[in-house]
Amino acid sequence: MRQLAKLAFAPDASREISVVGLGKSGRAASEALTRAGYRVYASDAAANAATEKAAAELRAMGVAVDVGSHDLERIARSAMLVVSPGVPPTAPPLVRAREAGVRQISEITLGRGFLARTKVIAITGTNGKTTTTALTGHLLRALGLNAVDAGNIGTPLTAVALMEPQPDWLALELSSFQLHDTEMLLPTVGVVTNLSPDHLDRYASVDDYYYDKALIFRDQTRDSRWVLNADDREVLALAQRLPEQPDISAKTGHRMPPKSEWPLGEVRRFSLAQRDDAFYDRDAGALVVLGEPLIRRDELTLFGDHNVANALAASLAVMIADPAHRTPEARRRIAEGLRSFRALKHRLEVAGEYGGVLWINDSKATNVSSTLVAVEGMTRPTILLLGGRHKGEPYTSLAPAIRRTCRMVIAYGESAPIVEEDLKQLVPLERMGSDFGEVIARARELAKPGDAVLLSPACSSYDMFDNYEHRGAEFKRLAAEGAR
Ligand code: ADP
Repeated sequence: MRQLAKLAFAPDASREISVVGLGKSGRAASEALTRAGYRVYASDAAANAATEKAAAELRAMGVAVDVGSHDLERIARSAMLVVSPGVPPTAPPLVRAREAGVRQISEITLGRGFLARTKVIAITGTNGKTTTTALTGHLLRALGLNAVDAGNIGTPLTAVALMEPQPDWLALELSSFQLHDTEMLLPTVGVVTNLSPDHLDRYASVDDYYYDKALIFRDQTRDSRWVLNADDREVLALAQRLPEQPDISAKTGHRMPPKSEWPLGEVRRFSLAQRDDAFYDRDAGALVVLGEPLIRRDELTLFGDHNVANALAASLAVMIADPAHRTPEARRRIAEGLRSFRALKHRLEVAGEYGGVLWINDSKATNVSSTLVAVEGMTRPTILLLGGRHKGEPYTSLAPAIRRTCRMVIAYGESAPIVEEDLKQLVPLERMGSDFGEVIARARELAKPGDAVLLSPACSSYDMFDNYEHRGAEFKRLAAEGAR
């Protein structure tokens, strides 16, 4: 079993460190701290089979664990608090720790501290994070490097720290919630895919949400490297949302440039619309990166222009991460990696073609902008399934694309009345309830051979399902079942 070195930034090992949350991240964080020789107190307000299991495993390693409640005074006495991404800042243990002046760090900061020698390509943005992260990891491995995909994509960073050997490279997906408490990320390359309103159920405003995204630039230096979306003005200006920093010239001889010049370091851009460091040459049908064509568009098996953007972002990030990734041989391997990459599940995934109708599972489209790219990319007359738990954004911006590509919208689930209100004057729409079997049966009735049925709900799944994976799996099951 891997023993970990002490953390440079952790307090003396004689005092207890608290971990809040016993999901995947909290469990791995507790184990990593224990293996580094710290005393750990972990707790989770939820008592269920999953947290009980994690608790039993951690107790066997000597961790003190509470399930179903937090000992707030114990947390207030701890030397440091590690926060899992799912725990909101208003949760009682976080509030109590703040009052008591206990330092709070994210699971990402902790994992990064244990992975001091690993190089990180960090990826954030509203949409395309997981796809771009998976592409980045795949391209690094295509170069023969020991690279792991981690963070929001599935494997907690502290679980990576426990790997033997630790990887040389990481493709790290970061959600806004993960960035919230994260510092000392120090990525070799930071990528921002795009920005649009999302999570308005959790954030008071779009500005608050963008501010958390801007934290990817928090530790910017002159050696930083960034890959930004040239077609998205919010992305280009994102670093300027950080607070003004003190001029460091007295200490280092370097002047802190004005905000208008942030982010510091090398900025490379990708674009679907114009020539840039990486761009889509539509006339030639090619993806061009750092001055040379990399692959033809039709060699990429991914559907939709947004995935061309994801491929450009990932290729550019990998190529600027190290000069050895830009040699002719490296370019050949990266091109090979792009050719062999396949779409991830629940992201415009073809569920099947039944009776001439193509069923497409885009259950991961949980906001309006991701549904928009899906609808815009449809080439068949489409029955669109839209609905779930409302997240606060209006649906009206979907209307022009829906009019172009959709035969009918079925609004379903908790948000159905809002979807109907926003869109009924603008597009053909039927409102249904929360029985997914009935929704699918109605879609089947409406679809003619040559049509598509697209589940791209623009809402979260929690009104009717455990999560988006569950919703996508039910869609695929019901689509196939009706075909028998
Ligand atoms: P994330 O991890 O940011 O949610 P994913 O890669 O999982 O992103 O993709 C989620 C959905 O977002 C996809 O199903 C697709 O509809 C949409 N999407 C993917 N990439 C982009 C992009 N670059 N721009 C806009 N929408 C995208």
